[in-house]
Amino acid sequence: MARTVLVTGGNRGIGLSIAQVFAKQGDRVAVTTRGGEAPEGLLGVRCDVTDSDAVDAAFTQVEAELGPVEVLVANAGMTDDTLLMRMSEDQFSRVLDTNLTGAWRCARRASAKMVRGRFGRMIFISSVVGLYGGAGQVNYAASKAGLVGMARSITRELGSRNITANVVAPGFIETDMTAALPEERRAEYRKAIPAARFAAPEEVAGVVAWLAGDAAGYVNGAVIPVDGGLGMGH
Ligand code: NDP
Repeated sequence: MARTVLVTGGNRGIGLSIAQVFAKQGDRVAVTTRGGEAPEGLLGVRCDVTDSDAVDAAFTQVEAELGPVEVLVANAGMTDDTLLMRMSEDQFSRVLDTNLTGAWRCARRASAKMVRGRFGRMIFISSVVGLYGGAGQVNYAASKAGLVGMARSITRELGSRNITANVVAPGFIETDMTAALPEERRAEYRKAIPAARFAAPEEVAGVVAWLAGDAAGYVNGAVIPVDGGLGMGH
């Protein structure tokens, strides 16, 4: 059954790959963009997830053009790494506002229509770092760990309404975000990953599509790692 899907930050990287998997299987797919055009075949809606009014307007546009959002993939995210002692309050707050509060703004806006439609899939893109920790990533790790508590609380609130809220925790995926890491750090991580490689965005997208599908209807409040074994036990 074709669904209406909204992927935040779906104009590039992991989000784009996720959006393309849904489009390929025949779903109606919208992606948020902050500038430029949406990739072909996807409805682009302007939205900065740090702005509640913009989130509301984006959902209103998707609802008008594609129908109520049945699958929300909260993927938009950013890093602003530095050591705790050097981290400014602004650096901490901006990352939390985008990665955690941004996801919450979208989940809140999506929830009423999901309850009314008696169907919903919320998928939050966290990170292995959320539970594993990462030196220089106090802000990012806190935001990604926060998504776990949020998804599990949504599960408890809305689980009886045929709504699932799950977390996908990728490890190291080849995108602009990891391209920005110093080579030394990349090499260190590669050594720690049992799979001994970084992953392609498609390897995350397949898991997200599975979570949104009928086969995963009884999977709720879960954290699914897609990390080549890096975070085992976390
Ligand atoms: P990219 O940096 O390649 O893309 C980030 C996406 O998020 C872009 O579409 C960007 O939009 C969007 N975005 C950032 N801030 C905002 C905002 N305020 N409002 C709306 N959109 C925003 O990242 P990845 O594709 O690598 O990462 C996607 C998600 O996966 C993130 O949540 C990230 O934390 C997570 N992740 C990534 C891993 C990796 O190894 N790459 C590992 C684990 C988790 P724009 O194009 O306008 O900048």
